[in-house]
Amino acid sequence: MTCGTLLAMPMRLDHALRPQPMPDHRVPRHRRPDQRWWSTPEWRKLRRQVVIEEPVCRICGVAPTTTADHIVPVDAGGAVLDRSNLQGACGPCNSGKGAMA
Ligand SMILES: [Zn+2]
Repeated sequence: MTCGTLLAMPMRLDHALRPQPMPDHRVPRHRRPDQRWWSTPEWRKLRRQVVIEEPVCRICGVAPTTTADHIVPVDAGGAVLDRSNLQGACGPCNSGKGAMA
């Protein structure tokens, strides 16, 4: 037995053994609890479902849907993970919704 085996192990192996660079349980949950919904698996699944079911943006009716938009904004108390509160939206419509009013 020699110490040479330790030196022969590349440092990269350590990264390869950890496929998740940012484990969820290490993220502090106390900061903005209302802002965590977009990082949940439930949201990603629901958003994908909306994109499939409503392939054309419901706001402009032209561009292809790329994301799900909350009909009643989350800030206004709208349900976050409720399919009935979601509509398909393209990127510009989703991000520029406030500027339309
Ligand atoms: Zn649009």
